[in-house]
Amino acid sequence: MAAAERTGAAEPAAAQDAAVPESHPRAESLRIRHRLVRGFEEGLVAAEGLLAHGRGEALDYLLGEKTGGAARQACRAAAAALCASDRPVISVNGNAAALCAGQLVSLAECTGSALEVNLFYDSPGRRGAIAGRLRRYGAKRVLGLDPERMAVLHGTDSARRMVDRDGIFAADTVVVPLEDGDRTAALKRAGKTVITFDLNPLSRTAQTADISIIDNITRAANVLLEECRNLAGEGGGDNRNGGGGAKSAAARIVQGFDNKRNLAQAVRQITGNLGRLQGMRRVAGGGGGGGGGGGATATAATAAADIIAHGPQPE
Ligand code: ATP
Repeated sequence: MAAAERTGAAEPAAAQDAAVPESHPRAESLRIRHRLVRGFEEGLVAAEGLLAHGRGEALDYLLGEKTGGAARQACRAAAAALCASDRPVISVNGNAAALCAGQLVSLAECTGSALEVNLFYDSPGRRGAIAGRLRRYGAKRVLGLDPERMAVLHGTDSARRMVDRDGIFAADTVVVPLEDGDRTAALKRAGKTVITFDLNPLSRTAQTADISIIDNITRAANVLLEECRNLAGEGGGDNRNGGGGAKSAAARIVQGFDNKRNLAQAVRQITGNLGRLQGMRRVAGGGGGGGGGGGATATAATAAADIIAHGPQPE
């Protein structure tokens, strides 16, 4: 399969995409929505997945719809964690498959990771559709399809507890894009290193994972892939065959990464954008509001940093 096709660039253009003029300020955001709607129509995405995307979209707006420095650092650490792993697995749900199946297949190939379908709203039809999408992008083996090969991941009650014995169950590192907090905590308790893509720095998943990439997976999957290729290049081969030297260098990068600090940086990205917005309002409104806007932003930033440090407090 051609490289352009593997990155999703050669996805057949849908009529909806053609209807969005390139000059539209939200053109990319609308194209991402179309990909999800197509995924829904093709049976990959659950209706609830469309709503979950809405939650993410709102946060992407606040992040400025671009990959910030914190996300780049997290991608570098995630690439190193994958390089240092013996049995990495990429868990794929409907949204991830609809948005970036090609990148996930390339990532699996570059890092020697297995691909496993794992769903919250589970059905054999959706599993099959997602596996079909991954295969279309070149995946040779997709785990999570054979009921005989499943084992229970303790500590979560959703359908996501059923994992492949050869995949997530035996993995040392698991990439869980767009995840729910319960399973992230269960994976951690099972001793796995957890990497997530999540637009919400305050979600339970982002706070529980070892490495949280706070960015839209449509952008960050490419950045992570690039970092994996860089590391493979530095190691003189691909990550699958990385020697002891490459692995220990990668392990040092992981040790030097502080997820809490990185999450706080992502929150500052959001509050910085909000602060700029408040500044714009003050200019537009002739400086009204008694100058309290900056204080409100600072209070929000402090509250968010507190949640990151101590977890959400009961109401
Ligand atoms: P948690 O249980 O971790 O607190 P949640 O219940 O808010 O999370 P879900 O609804 O299970 O989360 O999953 C949606 C998550 O995926 C949200 O945190 C949302 O920000 C994130 N998300 C949605 N779309 C994207 C995307 N395109 N890229 C990255 N993250 C996304």
